[in-house]
Amino acid sequence: MCGIVGYLGKKPALPILIQGLRRLEYRGYDSAGVAVMNGEIVRMRAVGKIDSLADKLKDTKIEGTVGIAHTRWATHGGVTEENAHPHFACDGKLVIAHNGIIENYRELKEKLTSLGHTFKSETDTEVLAHLIEVNYKGDLRLAVETALAQVRGTYGLVAMHANEPNKIVAARLGSPLVIGIGEGEYFIASDATPMLAYTKKVTFLEDGEIAEIGLEGVRTFNLRDELISKKVEEIEWNDEQAQKQGYDHFMLKEIHDQPTVFEDAIRGRVDLEEGTAHLGGLNMTDDQMRSIERIVLIACGTASYAAMVGKYAFERLAGIPTEVDVASEFRYRDPIITDKTLVFAISQSGETADTLAAVREAKRKGAYVRGIVNVVGSTIARETDGGTYIHAGPELAVASTKAFTNMVAIMILYAIQFGRLKRVTLATGQRLIKALLEIPEKMNQVLKLNDQIKVLAEKYSGYKDFLFLGRGINFPVALEGSHKLKEISYIHSEAYPAGEMKHGVNALLSPEFPIFAILVKDQLYEKMRSNIEEVKARKSPIILLATIGDEAVKELAEDVIYVPDTMELLEPLVNTLLLQLFAYHMAVILGKDVDRPRNLAKSVTVE
Ligand code: GLU
Repeated sequence: MCGIVGYLGKKPALPILIQGLRRLEYRGYDSAGVAVMNGEIVRMRAVGKIDSLADKLKDTKIEGTVGIAHTRWATHGGVTEENAHPHFACDGKLVIAHNGIIENYRELKEKLTSLGHTFKSETDTEVLAHLIEVNYKGDLRLAVETALAQVRGTYGLVAMHANEPNKIVAARLGSPLVIGIGEGEYFIASDATPMLAYTKKVTFLEDGEIAEIGLEGVRTFNLRDELISKKVEEIEWNDEQAQKQGYDHFMLKEIHDQPTVFEDAIRGRVDLEEGTAHLGGLNMTDDQMRSIERIVLIACGTASYAAMVGKYAFERLAGIPTEVDVASEFRYRDPIITDKTLVFAISQSGETADTLAAVREAKRKGAYVRGIVNVVGSTIARETDGGTYIHAGPELAVASTKAFTNMVAIMILYAIQFGRLKRVTLATGQRLIKALLEIPEKMNQVLKLNDQIKVLAEKYSGYKDFLFLGRGINFPVALEGSHKLKEISYIHSEAYPAGEMKHGVNALLSPEFPIFAILVKDQLYEKMRSNIEEVKARKSPIILLATIGDEAVKELAEDVIYVPDTMELLEPLVNTLLLQLFAYHMAVILGKDVDRPRNLAKSVTVE
């Protein structure tokens, strides 16, 4: 999920690789490493910053002109030097660096162990190195191709073999790779930034493609081993644009990352046959899980809205009373915690001070405490007795987007896992898993509405106040939509469960006060529709997020945007994207600093 750099040419590779890694630093990482062809393959790795790696390399003389390098964002195995990439297989001749996740690494590892392979790290990546070694018959590309045919998962991959010293093989499925073509030299990297100083000519590797890079050029193959021709493009991006993969802001890039990272979150964790999920990190036996009488979800900000979706899922599927507690309130109000309480601490950074304090408080009171966290090895991940990484990859925009959807995804998986031990039938479990597998495609459909949402934002950008309405599972979505708008556009906005309107908020309604309402075809459709009629009667302009095909709602609203239908519990995974895009475009139109909104920080490490 993080960074890869490769170089093959006539210059010493090491300085180019280290410089390249520095260019990719913005992506976030926890350790780094390089491997250079120097007669034999020389490798060096270090935990922490690239400076630590550069320090270690200070006194070494590595003159080789072919090499690969990596920054790791750990997904499998802790943040240690042994787990840092590049990884060797057994004989020290084959080395790889990999971004992504090998889903079936456990089965492959068992098979390879029985063939006599020994493993030095806990990573999924090392398994792939050994699998390539097993298939190596003198041609690295063929070995990579054969190995990848046995792999489920995602990868951006670079590999070298000491027997073919002037060759790098690169493959892509799900994690980006760009190949730069210079004068007698070639670059490979996760984005174009490491090569911009040397060349503007690039080809973008597509999913399912394998490139063989040698001094005589680049040949690209598909997974059926057919040679394919690739377009060489001239890029005009500067460094910063390249980091954003061409998007104007990190936030927009991260909104668009969602279908991919959602797949990363559920990969290897869903079981369609059994209609359930397996989140091993929970570290609880089935009996312990059945004994849980109450779940408490502790979080701040966006994570707390994700938690509200989690509450619906846990109560509906697992039948366990669940509450959401804002972390900063939790520890000051004598929360009732017993040894039958399960507490989930939910945090993107895993460093949120309020959430961490709440974790300590809950542990003191004897609850099971687990983390739902993005950053591997973060304090909350270390201080809880288990939990799950959400695998959203680094989130650089201050306003959270992809972490929200992946938090929701993980809580739904937990709810299914608990539910299947109690009251959810096989058929319902299977229906849910099937629907989850369809989510990335539905997210893509929403992302295609980008231009339409931009036009909408232009139309509404002059208003000073906004009200988001939802009911049921879409109330937290309304809260998150409103939260996003506040955070980045600084427009005053509120969110209410629509049934509450007549108890006070109706007093605010006027033509100056637009409403963004979520009116999708679920069990609360009729109720929600009546609430909107009431708003309409007070002449507030109305934007509706509605289900594709529901033409009848057009008469209710000034504007309607249609999203695909899904199972009710999963609606937030689709609907939220539209509200993220709306907030984004509003902020851009108003000229705000979208990625770095005023007065806010990404990781809130103070109380
Ligand atoms: N899954 C691999 C690991 O944990 C690669 C992580 C990455 O993409 O940096 O080592």
